[in-house]
Amino acid sequence: MSLATRPPAFTYLRSKLHAEKVPMSRLAERFSTPLYVYSATAIRRRFQAFDKAFAPLPHTICYSVKASSNLSLLAMLGEMGAGFDVVSGGELERVMFAVPMMAHRVVFSGVGKTAAEMDLALNANIFLFNVESESELELLSERAAKLGQRARVALRVNPDVPAETHPYISTGLREHKFGIPIEEAAALYRKAASYASLDPAGVSVHIGSQIMEMEPFAAAMQRVTGLVNELRAAGHNIWCVDAGGGLGIRYEGGPDKDFQADVKGYAAAILPALGPLGAHLLLEPGRSIVGAAGALLTRVLYKKTNGGKRFVIVDAAMNDLIRPSLYKAFHQIVPVAPRPGPEEVVDIVGPVCETGDFFARDRSLPRLEEGDLVAILDAGAYGMSLASNYNSRPRAAEVFVEGRKAKVVRLRETSRDQVQHELDL
Ligand SMILES: *Cc1c(COP(=O)(O)O)cnc(C)c1O
Repeated sequence: MSLATRPPAFTYLRSKLHAEKVPMSRLAERFSTPLYVYSATAIRRRFQAFDKAFAPLPHTICYSVKASSNLSLLAMLGEMGAGFDVVSGGELERVMFAVPMMAHRVVFSGVGKTAAEMDLALNANIFLFNVESESELELLSERAAKLGQRARVALRVNPDVPAETHPYISTGLREHKFGIPIEEAAALYRKAASYASLDPAGVSVHIGSQIMEMEPFAAAMQRVTGLVNELRAAGHNIWCVDAGGGLGIRYEGGPDKDFQADVKGYAAAILPALGPLGAHLLLEPGRSIVGAAGALLTRVLYKKTNGGKRFVIVDAAMNDLIRPSLYKAFHQIVPVAPRPGPEEVVDIVGPVCETGDFFARDRSLPRLEEGDLVAILDAGAYGMSLASNYNSRPRAAEVFVEGRKAKVVRLRETSRDQVQHELDL
């Protein structure tokens, strides 16, 4: 196995894994494990790569909050000029806590917005509602009328293009629950325009996540631009296009310059169709901004052999990072201080009482001993944001590293945190 890393976030310096310039072993000593570690520099660079690749068009990069929703992360991105894509009232409130006065850069997506969530967003005066059904459009028009507001809306259309990704995170086919069939969109825009409380201003699309092929993005964008032209011809003032998120990352490894090239390729796929429209472009990247910028640091508790199979039991578990269990996702796992000598084939598993609680199966790794530290790479997206308290395990702490500095951005939960809503009845 090669110990490929993720510069500038995670690299070996003097044979020890570092987060930027900070030894991972120091972080484990100071903040204990399991620990989410993020590189601020990597996040910034990735955001800037997007900003640069899409510079030819007026655009707003609305970071998708569900990928990782820590307030410090949101604040950092907000300062860099990001907008935010939220899928719940809770995410909107996070944005408002993290970056005051930033609601006007928020787009609200999701198939099941409640009236209370709509009211929250209307009162906050968000930029755009991505509406996913006729019933939602009706409810939004009622709520906006009641509050004396005019809500800017885009319909999220389903372009019916397949994207090669895990079936659970592909969203752009007719059979998926997301969006409105693109053939039905024109009628719904007519309906939207008939409500004084709605302002149909955009068209939105999001075809899935962890997409590495660029053709589906290009195909979806062609369908969207066709629709925009049709809607404009019908008299609608459509001036923004939300291209969604979904750009994948290289879980098998790759340096930052590969990422810059991936973003350029992505821009090259969607800009040609969009350019002639002269619309304001919104993007909703999540994973591609934070995925490779985060790692889950964990310590080996035990080694054991069952029927000839070797297990390495670590102190992180599926409640901390569920991607391997949920999607059979691959994460590269590297020792913080690799031992010389022959590798061993092992399963890396957590302490949770589920057979599905694993991070790697039959993986060849440098020999690990009890007490050693390992880093699970590319855990920055859909890691902490999907963490739970299963087995009554406290959720991990989160740390931001920048250069030689490290700071906690979320405290490790205590047992008291877990039971307080049951005690205070
Ligand atoms: C999840 C989601 C995103 C972000 O997807 P990534 O694959 O993380 O870039 C963007 N838009 C919508 C509507 C989503 O549901």
